[in-house]
Amino acid sequence: MVAELLPIIELGNPTLRQKASFVEDIHHQPTQKLIDDLMATVAKSNGVGIAAPQVAESSRLFIVASRPNQRYPNAPEMEPTAMINPAIIAHSTEVVKGWEGCLSIPGIRGLVPRYEAIEVEYIDRNGKPQKQEFTDFVARIFQHEHDHLDGIVFIDRVESTIDMITEQEYQKLMAKDAKK
Ligand code: ZN
Repeated sequence: MVAELLPIIELGNPTLRQKASFVEDIHHQPTQKLIDDLMATVAKSNGVGIAAPQVAESSRLFIVASRPNQRYPNAPEMEPTAMINPAIIAHSTEVVKGWEGCLSIPGIRGLVPRYEAIEVEYIDRNGKPQKQEFTDFVARIFQHEHDHLDGIVFIDRVESTIDMITEQEYQKLMAKDAKK
């Protein structure tokens, strides 16, 4: 079976603002195909994560696929993982601000406060319950994608519009940081 690249919906599409439904049948072929298609789509888009609502599927499922790429040169490498019906069950008191972007909000970056560490539960694509701890950038990806399942996007969490910049200015900032 060949994975398909799915069109990504953008800010303004009402599906991005819906609360997504729990996934009932993980072994169901359309669910498994959606996972494969999301993995192909996030890889092709230079993303580090993608949630089903971003391809107009209002289901509680996302992919975390951190790896260094053009959009996130400093991202840690991990195996792309499908997380189904995920939940944050505990979190650090420490909150850190970091730059985020979103495939559904092209051209904009924002400094977003997120928990530094989280403990999560989800069901994997084989239907097995998983419990894991994530810190730093991967914890940030999880929180960003988890928000998508509740109709929340990163610009909702930016503390001030001053913390929002264009992609072009973000790239300049990163180039300057790399020289330090
Ligand atoms: Zn996003």
